[in-house]
Amino acid sequence: MSVWVILGPGEMPPASGGLALLAEARRLTEPAGEVTVVLAGTAVPVEASAAHGAARILVLDAADGWAGPIVAVEALTDRLRQECPEACLLSASRWGSEVAGRLAARLGAALLPGCVGLTRDGAGRLEGTRPVYGSRLVARVAATGESLQIVTLRPGSESSSPGTGHGPATAERIPCTGRPDWIRDLGEEQVPPEALDLGEADVVVAGGLGVGSRQGFALVEELAGLLGGAMGATRMAVDAGWAPFARQIGLTGRIISPRVYVACGISGSPHHMDGVRQAQLVVAINTDRHAPIFTYADVGIQGDVREVLPALIAALRRLRPEARDAAALLGGAAGMPRPLDARR
Ligand SMILES: Cc1cc2nc3c(=O)[nH]c(=O)nc-3n(C[C@H](O)[C@H](O)[C@H](O)COP(=O)(O)OP(=O)(O)OC[C@H]3O[C@@H](n4cnc5c(N)ncnc54)[C@H](O)[C@@H]3O)c2cc1C
Repeated sequence: MSVWVILGPGEMPPASGGLALLAEARRLTEPAGEVTVVLAGTAVPVEASAAHGAARILVLDAADGWAGPIVAVEALTDRLRQECPEACLLSASRWGSEVAGRLAARLGAALLPGCVGLTRDGAGRLEGTRPVYGSRLVARVAATGESLQIVTLRPGSESSSPGTGHGPATAERIPCTGRPDWIRDLGEEQVPPEALDLGEADVVVAGGLGVGSRQGFALVEELAGLLGGAMGATRMAVDAGWAPFARQIGLTGRIISPRVYVACGISGSPHHMDGVRQAQLVVAINTDRHAPIFTYADVGIQGDVREVLPALIAALRRLRPEARDAAALLGGAAGMPRPLDARR
């Protein structure tokens, strides 16, 4: 089986998302298949991709240094038509989802979007699983026919075992010419250093309606900062104006896969938990002992966030920064469980 892994900005090795997709491709192509990796930019660590199982590397030589979705699709369409791999894997990131959708439309390919698991049959046809109806059900989807299969995988759902080497990799540059003039750059905005990307964060501390106010959210943000993590929010907290939409986690927000997720004043609705399925250790703080969040939690603290958060913050401040390991401090006897998804 021949599989292409198409990696966008921020997903290229050594970023964990890119390495995990490469590992997944290696798993699918074993024992005799081949993985081709496409890197959507010129400043790329070719060696890192080779060491993780890419037999061949294609680099999109875009004028701007990295290829936006439309530029990437323009550059790859003919190449995919000529080479006819059986499958392409992309991250279900904004970049990956847009490229996957456009390529599928161009090539008449079967698109399996937002999968959390992937298997293949003996004929090389893929079957994906993905949560539906607010994660109440898991749907199984399969590509029919002989067409190219394009799959986007939610971050954190790929095989965690690292890929192994597969012979020397060669890097070939694909020129990106003829940028479509119907796309216009409107400029770039600097992301503040404290606005850690939710999708990549190792630790996420999120607040819900139970946090009570914008001032209460400052405590959520402070705890996240002390643990070296990112701040997140429920839709109710975003609707209340306590956090920006970019921080929303869940069905209509971001999908996260942190090592540690701390839920402060969050009830644990399926719409919210849909974005947290890949968290490994869940810590919940809630006044209501019957709150659904406690059914997901590895560590539950029944208490008022207005008391618990200041106490946690004060305790962390007393520790040296290098001693503030969220999993060790908050996980305690719970250790490091598997992702929520795998525990159902
Ligand atoms: C189509 C659709 C899509 C949606 N998408 C999303 C989404 O992407 N993300 C999302 O989050 N939601 C989403 N929602 C909304 C979702 O259904 C829930 O309404 C929302 O997640 C609840 O947010 P919450 O937990 O902050 O609030 P609540 O459900 O009101 O829970 C607040 C919790 O705080 C606790 N609490 C109260 N005071 C304190 C205190 N002082 N200390 C500690 N605990 C306290 C309460 O016991 C309660 O459990 C969506 C809804 C729909 C219909």
